[in-house]
Amino acid sequence: MSKTTLIQPYGGSLVNLVVTGAEREALLSEASHYPSLQITQRNLHDLELMAVGAFSPLDRFMSKADYQRVLTEMRLSGGTLFPIPITLTIDKEDLPTRAEWITLRDARNDIIAIMRLEEVFRWNPQREARLVLGTTDPRHPLVAEMERWHDLCISGELKVLNMPKYYDFTDIRLTPAQVRSRLEQMGHDKVVAFQTRNPMHRIHEELTKRAAAQVGGALLIHPVVGMTKPGDVDHYTRVRVYKALVENYYDQKSTVLSLLPLAMRMAGPREALWHALIRRNYGATHFVVGRDHAGPGKDSQGRPFYGPYEAQEMMTQYADELGVQMVKFQELVYLVDEDRYEQRNKVPPDAKIARISGTEVREEYLAKGKPLPHWFTRPETAHILMEAHPPRHKQGLCLWLTGLSGAGKSTIAQALTSMLLERGRQVTLLDGDVVRTHLSKGLGFSKEDRDTNILRIGFVAGEITRHHGTVICAAISPYRATRNAVRKMVGEDHFVEIFVDTPLEVCEQRDVKGLYARARRGEIKGFTGIDDPYEAPTEPEVTVKTVDSTPEMSARQIVQYLETRGFLQS
Ligand code: ADP
Ligand code: ADP
Repeated sequence: MSKTTLIQPYGGSLVNLVVTGAEREALLSEASHYPSLQITQRNLHDLELMAVGAFSPLDRFMSKADYQRVLTEMRLSGGTLFPIPITLTIDKEDLPTRAEWITLRDARNDIIAIMRLEEVFRWNPQREARLVLGTTDPRHPLVAEMERWHDLCISGELKVLNMPKYYDFTDIRLTPAQVRSRLEQMGHDKVVAFQTRNPMHRIHEELTKRAAAQVGGALLIHPVVGMTKPGDVDHYTRVRVYKALVENYYDQKSTVLSLLPLAMRMAGPREALWHALIRRNYGATHFVVGRDHAGPGKDSQGRPFYGPYEAQEMMTQYADELGVQMVKFQELVYLVDEDRYEQRNKVPPDAKIARISGTEVREEYLAKGKPLPHWFTRPETAHILMEAHPPRHKQGLCLWLTGLSGAGKSTIAQALTSMLLERGRQVTLLDGDVVRTHLSKGLGFSKEDRDTNILRIGFVAGEITRHHGTVICAAISPYRATRNAVRKMVGEDHFVEIFVDTPLEVCEQRDVKGLYARARRGEIKGFTGIDDPYEAPTEPEVTVKTVDSTPEMSARQIVQYLETRGFLQS
């Protein structure tokens, strides 16, 4: 096929903010003398996409005039449709005085860009949330995040000196110009883009193939790999899925797979328009909008933030102006008897349908090691997802024993270790006393040192858990806040807090190491239970009472709990 001419970018041409060659060298040395601003991951994604023209015609973080009009009318000050505010915020104290240029740096302090400080203005998170997201409910992931942004917005000309560097999937991280050139080679002037932040199953294959057939052009599979909804499947796993699918099930001559480092806002209808506008810059003439596009789930009253087809309604209104036509779909469902997918409104009333939700994929299939059915997903996808999400009995696990000195933590931990090894789990035991001889050597028993000790154990436990290992931690860990911090580090789903509940008098009677006696004599200061507090867990996953049960009974009680949770196969 011969080369073709694609649709013009939105606003006529692609913005390019990237400076190269001698000019870049000169600016880099100046940049190191300008006042610095460290920008967030979200800012960095916005900047990166702006730099290569994905947000064309936008070429800077929004000025006050742009910002205000985008909020109320979804338009830049000049009238161009643009539904999402793109801002850079700064703390009042960090605002440089009398500087013409500032240097924007990433989290590692590397220079990314320089920006002319042309405008500073106040903004109001509640107002932005209300106007753009239609809600101020903190359950919305962006509302929660916006509370952490700073109180002033800054805007001005940008020169990008270093684009963020990636080392994963480098061959499919394409700029708008690169995607356009691939599409041109394919020879179609019509291009339908597909947005996703989830693994692609048969439903999505169906959506994309139907859309391409309907449009009669090329297909741009354009998954978001920047920031999506917290809790989504990580992009490494997803991209492995997309690659396997495109290689095995799509027409290579008319399909482009490219990754989009977008920081999503989960803004539903407004976001759908933004997605379409961005895809136009990559050469798309058509854009798939299905059910609940860019929806963030349910609010704190349990109601969905946006109606399932609200995004489609808004696209209908603005498609012509964007120059991107919508390919819309009702929710697709599987017709069991006919072995095919169909849109919900076309399903005969008595037809037998089947569906598996994202939550069911995780909890009913992957967590239990049950294979996903072929009608639902391709075997390649099932395999990659099962590898990334092993069943619960092969997932990482942190058993955290807390209690007074002499409560029985080490004794129970030893019994538990043997029982878990017997069941085929690989176990590391991090015993508080043992840890203090290497990992935490030199730390004492002040509140600060105790916290450091626990956080170190927590860090190691988190790493072991992340790599699907089992770790048993036995440490007094007297402070509730620190235990909760560790719970967060390890991850709620993999953390089992076990309260070894032994009354102080009993521990003191046992006094295995003679420490209580020394504490009573005042030879040891700040001893937990004597002159330093022990804050008992309020909602531990398991409580064992060593006065009523032997160490073996306690360990068996924990094993039983792990079986009911699926961490051990019963
Ligand atoms: P997003 O949050 O950006 O919408 P998803 O990966 O959930 O990302 O969805 C990608 C696209 O596929 C969206 O247009 C969405 O509406 C559509 N879609 C996903 N699942 C279905 C479905 N079961 N039926 C119809 N459309 C769907
Ligand atoms: P910790 O690790 O909590 O400081 P240890 O396990 O080192 O406690 O010490 C607890 C002591 O109490 C051990 O000597 C153990 O034999 C004894 N003990 C007596 N009864 C029990 C019981 N039911 N559970 C656990 N330990 C017990």
